[in-house]
Amino acid sequence: MNKATTSDLNIARRFAAFLKSYTWQIIFALTCALCSSAAGIALPLLAGSLINKLQETTQVSSFFNLHNLELWSLVSVFAFQAVCSYCQVVYTSRISEGVVRDIRIAAFSGLLKKEMLFFDQIKVGDVSSRVSKDVNDVQELYTESFQDIFLSIIEIFGSISAMLYISWKMTLLTLCVAPLSAALVLYYRNRFRMLARSQARLMGDISSHAQEASTHIRIIRAFGAETVELKRMLSVCDKFYTSGISLAKVFASQTVASRVLVWVAIFFVMLYGFYLIALGDMNSGQLVAFLILAYKSTQPVLHVSYIVNNMQRSLAAASRVYSLLEDNLPSRSLNQPLSFVPFNPQGQISFDRVNFSYCGEDVLNDVVFSVDKGEFVALVGPSGAGKTTILKLLLGFYSPSSGRILLDDVDISRVDPAILRSAIAYVPQESMLFNRSIYENIAYGNNSASFAEIESAAKNAGALDFIRTLPQGFDTMVGELGARLSGGERQRIVLGRAFLRNPKILLLDEPTSNLDSNNEALLKDNIKELAKGRTTVMVAHRFSTIEHADRVIVINSGRVIESGSPQQLIQQRGLFYQMRMSSSKIEDLPMPAV
Ligand code: ADP
Ligand code: MG
Repeated sequence: MNKATTSDLNIARRFAAFLKSYTWQIIFALTCALCSSAAGIALPLLAGSLINKLQETTQVSSFFNLHNLELWSLVSVFAFQAVCSYCQVVYTSRISEGVVRDIRIAAFSGLLKKEMLFFDQIKVGDVSSRVSKDVNDVQELYTESFQDIFLSIIEIFGSISAMLYISWKMTLLTLCVAPLSAALVLYYRNRFRMLARSQARLMGDISSHAQEASTHIRIIRAFGAETVELKRMLSVCDKFYTSGISLAKVFASQTVASRVLVWVAIFFVMLYGFYLIALGDMNSGQLVAFLILAYKSTQPVLHVSYIVNNMQRSLAAASRVYSLLEDNLPSRSLNQPLSFVPFNPQGQISFDRVNFSYCGEDVLNDVVFSVDKGEFVALVGPSGAGKTTILKLLLGFYSPSSGRILLDDVDISRVDPAILRSAIAYVPQESMLFNRSIYENIAYGNNSASFAEIESAAKNAGALDFIRTLPQGFDTMVGELGARLSGGERQRIVLGRAFLRNPKILLLDEPTSNLDSNNEALLKDNIKELAKGRTTVMVAHRFSTIEHADRVIVINSGRVIESGSPQQLIQQRGLFYQMRMSSSKIEDLPMPAV
């Protein structure tokens, strides 16, 4: 078995598993489907005998009376079929809508559990296209494909049995078409699959392009890049258009080929039928019934080929959704113990010869340092030195390639990530806000907080004054990524969130980088207040913000090269001293040699 079929099998298994909780509903829907098809096969037979009866009948009143068994059987079978079809449709959609809801939730929850490297590589719009459009395409597998194939097979076999009952010779003649139609289905299936995959991929590109353009609209405007963006979109849409047309052409030629096959077959069967009537081996009622059945049996064949093609689109979508569902635990799980140690973090941190690389590129080399409980440590160093990476490792977003990170002497790879992160408040480099209200943004991750607590957190972060001036106060919507607020306002809200969390450990990544010196000085006091009694690691890019740090750790090219109080480091006259002397802004400096 080649690799592609193995993974197709895995995908099929994974998606079939979603049906488990709907077993009874599926049995009921299929029974309805079965009854409705059985009725569909019985109807032409009953119609045939009714025609024969009509030929024998001389008076209308003797035909339309209560004793005409053929007539009333036909009417009741018809009514029975109507009820079965109704139940079948309703239950099928109950199953498929339910399954789609389950898949979407599973995909989203899978997404939330993905390791960070996944997000480093994916396009955001592509993910949203998978969760919305692709899941819908997968739905067709459940609504149409499986059920229709099942029904079609039953219909084909049912019709063939009834045809055999009427005339085995004519049935054999009709069946000559079967190998030819199977060959047609197989021939077109691969072409459909290829085109369907490329369409799903292109749809992901379209969606990610639209998403990116709306997120970065300010940059696009400022750089007058509307035409460039439009051209990029046009090129993707053109490709989508071309593949759509190719898909339609393939579909049209398949439809024409199948129809020609069907009608040629029916023509020959009919000629043969007339011949049998002439011989007296068959009556006209039987021929009509046979032709209806023969035509009916070709419909599911045509339909199956249509479904097989459609399934290619659903399967292409399924493999894209599958990549979200598939277990993809953080790499830290590789050497993770079966159970986590019970733990109540206090806040003492040490890095013990930690090495780390993103996709093979060394970023941290033998990093060794420790931070005592309650200590305020500033991480400084040139841009790209690895400071943010140190914070991300502390949060357990990535795991070291070698070495250990200890929290109160416990290796964090043995600590439940949820417990680890509950002890930490993280203020990232870009203060990303959710497009929700200020209230929700401050309360984020702290849903049980009361209004008074949120107000006090906002006050401590120096945000209360500006929030009060807003017409809608705490209910003000902040816009996409907090676009309706200034950099300083955004930063204060994020700081408020950290105050509310009341953490043991505070990780701040250049919290004042977007602020003017006035705002920075104000925020510095708020940070000082927040850091009281907590272990704090702050990446700093201005010397003024680290004056009150207990200790400064200087990082360069992924290594710790100096460590001590700001005064000690100045006395040492090392890299920190050189940086201090030549600029007030650490990152203005060229990268010093190690
Ligand atoms: P700093 O915060 O000191 O400016 P970072 O820790 O962000 O530096 O980055 C350190 C190095 O790692 C840089 O060379 C950067 O290009 C690289 N890097 C950071 N994040 C990623 C990532 N997600 N994938 C690949 N490389 C990364
Ligand atoms: Mg950084």
